[in-house]
Amino acid sequence: MQIVALTFLPAALAALHWPSSAEAFTTTLPTMTTSSSARKHLTVSMSSTATTHSESGADGRRIVIVGGGIGGLSTAFDSRHLLRPQDEIVVVSDREKFQFTPSNPWVAVRKRTAEDISLSLTKILPKHKIVFIHGKAHTLNPKKNQLILEDGTKVPYDFLVIATGPRLGFEEIPGARGIHHHTASICTTPHALLAAETYDKLIQEPGPIVIGATQGASCFGPAYEYAMLVEHELKKRGGRKLVEQCPIHFITPEPYIGHLGLGGAGESEKILTRMLDERHIKYTTNCKVQRVNPGSVSIQYYDEHDQKINDVLPSHLTMLVPPFRGIDVWKTVTGLTDEHGMVLVDKQQQSTTYSNIFGVGVCVQIDPLEKTKVPTGVPKTGYSTFYVGLLKCCPPTSLPYLATHTRTHAQTRTFSL
Ligand SMILES: Cc1cc2nc3c(=O)[nH]c(=O)nc-3n(C[C@H](O)[C@H](O)[C@H](O)COP(=O)(O)OP(=O)(O)OC[C@H]3O[C@@H](n4cnc5c(N)ncnc54)[C@H](O)[C@@H]3O)c2cc1C
Repeated sequence: MQIVALTFLPAALAALHWPSSAEAFTTTLPTMTTSSSARKHLTVSMSSTATTHSESGADGRRIVIVGGGIGGLSTAFDSRHLLRPQDEIVVVSDREKFQFTPSNPWVAVRKRTAEDISLSLTKILPKHKIVFIHGKAHTLNPKKNQLILEDGTKVPYDFLVIATGPRLGFEEIPGARGIHHHTASICTTPHALLAAETYDKLIQEPGPIVIGATQGASCFGPAYEYAMLVEHELKKRGGRKLVEQCPIHFITPEPYIGHLGLGGAGESEKILTRMLDERHIKYTTNCKVQRVNPGSVSIQYYDEHDQKINDVLPSHLTMLVPPFRGIDVWKTVTGLTDEHGMVLVDKQQQSTTYSNIFGVGVCVQIDPLEKTKVPTGVPKTGYSTFYVGLLKCCPPTSLPYLATHTRTHAQTRTFSL
């Protein structure tokens, strides 16, 4: 099993029987096509359905899901499972591959290859009677119920589920302009591959390491995980000597270790503090990144007397999780997002402005749980309470079997982190 953190995946994804490599998986699947003729046919067929019902059945609905990550695929598989055969499920994603984000830290230390944690959406989705469009959402016209892709393809929908994950707000951190500009990133698999190159260089030229999260970040777990993984791998490679040559400093806006943007979770403070101490990983909390420089990170933090202290940490490998923001496409739609482009939804994942639009996963807006000295956000998981919204889309009355089926299926799902 190459995939970690499967606990976060719904049964539908787990039921795919993840093989030991993506290659092994593809050999078990029939060949699918993404030829331009097939694509054209799909486009024509979709355009001809105007904006209300799909052609898949007289009263069939088209549910268009934008995003092929954990949130998008969970929604697609469960929608296929719960909705009627005549309802059409369409996934639009700018990446042809599903890449299992929680395994990125492993790619970044070369414990896994990108192929190990990737699956071809062209291959798996049609097999499950889900239409896949490989394309980038460009504009949304909610009045016409129409999504327009970068190549001009118009995708009409009855219900739209936005699952486009985060836009990485590196531009908010001085010096960290763009990806791989003095900082490595593990937020996407391509970034993790670049981070692996920096890691290789570190092995050749050992030196201090800075890992953590920046002000406004919400996703702290992977930063802790990566810090401990790097320490573990260094020890495996070069024993205690190499670890001592590469001291790790963990920096975070959290008010204490293990706060996680949640005000702590169980004994997270005790456990994570102990784990960092055991590995001799130094840490600075209440920390703001002033600037990322080539070879160092300038920080400002509050000490125990609430005094602001400035410091510069030398670094041969810097990995900082930035704030997560929303992609620009939705921001231009009146009332759909907050100022950061995060989709505004109610407790049932339904847009607070458009009743046939839903948001799932990291792209939705959630207020911080508490105010911290240095701003922190709330962590989000890809797999969220989408099915509640789904039932609103297609209430049990329109789905006779759902009333009995959903109870056993959906209620067994947990929404925990
Ligand atoms: C290193 C790391 C480890 C993590 N580990 C965990 C964990 O163990 N458990 C957990 O619950 N969470 C974890 N998270 C949080 C994690 O990001 C999410 O849980 C999950 O990946 C979010 O799923 P998502 O579908 O919302 O977004 P994503 O997985 O980011 O998917 C977004 C999708 O939208 C597509 N997209 C974006 N823009 C467009 C566009 N314009 N048009 C079309 N498609 C578009 C992208 O290509 C992608 O397919 C981790 C995060 C990171 C960075």
